[in-house]
Amino acid sequence: MGAFQARPETSSMTGRSLLDPFARAITYLRVSVTDRCDFRCVYCMSEDMAFLPKRDLLTLEELDRICSAFVDRGVRKLRITGGEPLVRRDIMTLFGSLSRHLDTGALDELTLTTNGSQLARHAKDLAACGVKRVNVSIDTLDADRFRAITRWGDLAKVLQGLDAAQNAGLKVKINTVALKGVNEDEIESLVGWAHGRGMDLTLIEVMPLGEIDGQRIDQFLPLSQVRARLAARYDLEDLDHRTGGPARYVRVKETGGRLGFITPLTHNFCESCNRVRLTCTGQLFMCLGQEDAADLRAPVRASESNELLDRAIVEAIARKPKGHDFIIDRRHARPALARHMSVTGG
Ligand code: SAM
Ligand code: SF4
Repeated sequence: MGAFQARPETSSMTGRSLLDPFARAITYLRVSVTDRCDFRCVYCMSEDMAFLPKRDLLTLEELDRICSAFVDRGVRKLRITGGEPLVRRDIMTLFGSLSRHLDTGALDELTLTTNGSQLARHAKDLAACGVKRVNVSIDTLDADRFRAITRWGDLAKVLQGLDAAQNAGLKVKINTVALKGVNEDEIESLVGWAHGRGMDLTLIEVMPLGEIDGQRIDQFLPLSQVRARLAARYDLEDLDHRTGGPARYVRVKETGGRLGFITPLTHNFCESCNRVRLTCTGQLFMCLGQEDAADLRAPVRASESNELLDRAIVEAIARKPKGHDFIIDRRHARPALARHMSVTGG
């Protein structure tokens, strides 16, 4: 269902993979297709978020060109995120066009992270585009609490989205941000619920990204604490499964399901980092926890051919830093990084 013309590959590019200065192969690109969202999660955005002017956004065709240039350079996995990716107009056109890389075998996986609000509408089409798995973010199963956390979200709609995704044959993983005093009493039951439906669950520690209305130190709940509490109820068996990212996995013996812990404030995953992140304006962030970014919009707009773009990508990867410097504590009341998670995607 590709709506864009596939560009002919230049043979000089083919087969040349992206290696950073620390010999890490870059095989995973996360792409934020919009900074907009139909929710206003308290840890992610302030209620009166100012969004980017539409003219600054990459068009769907430009997004396709950049993703394809990365695939051409050895990227095997694309994750579409945001903001809320499914609120971007005509987003299925992008999924449709990118699916050609699955057909050729150049890409192993095309996936997305979503709040689920529009999933009921899109699940079947996503499956038709070759999407096999989706990450859905749900922090609570209590409708009032869900409204309090997301400010604008409707839990019933998200649950309908989950049903639609599973009925369409998509494998679902739930992402839950662990929030002190907000959903910490629910985490055990969320594990039972997710695993009962055949879904993996990943817990995320709050990250200091972007100004929000409250103070993040008030929301911060160390996952070490959560894990200790879960271990009192469940038998947790460490798994080797790694994604190159900050997640560590355990098998919950009682449920048979998999549980992940994402602790981005620790450094112990940077050595295996295989990913970079593209914003909806074409900024390429080589590390979620650093300010440095390379502009890919200028080269993509400067010429019809992908030569300048390809050169900009190679130069950017040569600047990928060894690790990040997140800090969250009382002395650092301001976010460690000014940009929001909705800019670089989760
Ligand atoms: N809107 C989609 C969603 O919520 O799944 C995709 C984008 S969202 C930025 C991706 C993930 O980042 C979500 O699971 C969300 O809970 C998480 N997230 C957002 N802000 C965060 C923060 N400051 N710290 C930790 N996780 C955050
Ligand atoms: Fe929107 Fe996702 Fe941020 Fe919530 S976490 S406000 S759903 S982008």
